Amino acid sequence: MEKFILQNIIRKNILAMKPYSCARDEFKGSEGIFLDANENPFGELNRYPDPYQSAVKQELARLKNIDVNRIFIGNGSDEVIDLAYRVFCNPGTDRAVSFPPTYGMYRVSAEINDVEMIEIPLCADFQINLAALSPFFDDVHLKVIFICSPNNPTGNLIKLNDISFILDNFKGIVFVDEAYIDFAGSQSLISWIDRYPNLIVSQTFSKSRALASARVGLAYSNPEIIAYWNRVKAPYNVSGPNQKAAYDALVNEEDFLIRKSAILEEKQRLQKELPKVPLIRKVYPSDANFFLVEVEDANMVYSKLIEMKIVTRNRNSVINNCIRITVGTEAENTALLKALRQLTVNN
Ligand SMILES: *Cc1c(COP(=O)(O)O)cnc(C)c1O
Repeated sequence: MEKFILQNIIRKNILAMKPYSCARDEFKGSEGIFLDANENPFGELNRYPDPYQSAVKQELARLKNIDVNRIFIGNGSDEVIDLAYRVFCNPGTDRAVSFPPTYGMYRVSAEINDVEMIEIPLCADFQINLAALSPFFDDVHLKVIFICSPNNPTGNLIKLNDISFILDNFKGIVFVDEAYIDFAGSQSLISWIDRYPNLIVSQTFSKSRALASARVGLAYSNPEIIAYWNRVKAPYNVSGPNQKAAYDALVNEEDFLIRKSAILEEKQRLQKELPKVPLIRKVYPSDANFFLVEVEDANMVYSKLIEMKIVTRNRNSVINNCIRITVGTEAENTALLKALRQLTVNN
C-alpha cells in the first residue's frame, strides 16, 4: 500500500450500506409530543436515549479540546475494539497485529470476526519489536495494528517514537488503546489525530473515571472514520442511565482528580513497599494503576491470597510467575501488604 486511503481500508459492504435511520435520527428536538418511536408514554426510562450521546460528547470536547465529530462513544472499549474489525477487516481474508502479552480482547474479537491475528511478542523490555513488525507493513490484508499504551498487563507506556514510526510506515489503521493514560505521566495521542489520518485512539470510563459498570468506551479519530463507525454501531449502543453517569462524571471533574491522586499516592506506597516483601522478586515499573509483580511461585501466591479473600490476577500463563495487582484503597493495599508478608512467614 502506497499511502493511506481510507476507502481502501473500509470494508466494501460498509462503504456501500445504507445506515438504519432511527426515530431519534429523524427528529432531534427534545420538546414536543413524541408519538414517533412506539415508546410507552409512562415511566422514567421510557424514552430511547440519544443515539449519538451528544451531551457526553460536548463535555468531552470541552475537556479534551477536540471537535465533537472526532469522538465516538461505545458500549465499553470492547465495542470500540469490535468495531475496528467490523468496519475495516473482511472476515476470512484480512489480518490484524497485536503485541503480546497484552489485553486479551484484541485476540478474542479477532476470532469472533474471523480475522487472523498476527502476534508479535514484545521485546524483553516490553517495547515493540519493530524489526519483526516492519515486514508486515506491505501486507495489503493487514488492516489494523493494536498498540496498548500503557500496556496491560505489563504496565509500561510504549515509546512515542516507535508509535510514530508505525504511523508513518503502515498504511492501515493504527489503534492505540489508552485505557490507562490518565494514570501515566504522559500526554494522550489524541493531539496526533490531525497529523495522522490512520490513527484511532481509544480510552474508557472504566478505569480512571470509576465507571466500569456503566460500560462507556471512547474512540477519537478523524471525522470520516467516526462517521463510518456511527453507521455500524447499534443505534442505541449506550443506555440513557449510562450516558447520564458518564456526563455526571465529566461535570464532576473535582471527584475524578481527587480519586486519581489518591490512587497515585497509594501506587507510590505500593511501589516502595512491595519490593520489601521477601517472596516478591521483582516489581515492574508502572505507568498505570496496577503492578506486574514477579514472585517465586505465582500459582501458590495467587491461591493463598484468594484463601485470604484478596483477589489478584494470575498472569503466570502469559508471563512466568507474574501476578497483576491493582492499586486499591489505602485499607485494601494495607491488607494486601499484610497478607503478602504473612505468606512469606508461613512459607
Ligand atoms: C480495562 C481495559 C479496557 C477497558 O475496557 P472497557 O470495555 O471500556 O471496560 C480497555 N483496554 C484495556 C487495555 C484495558 O485494560
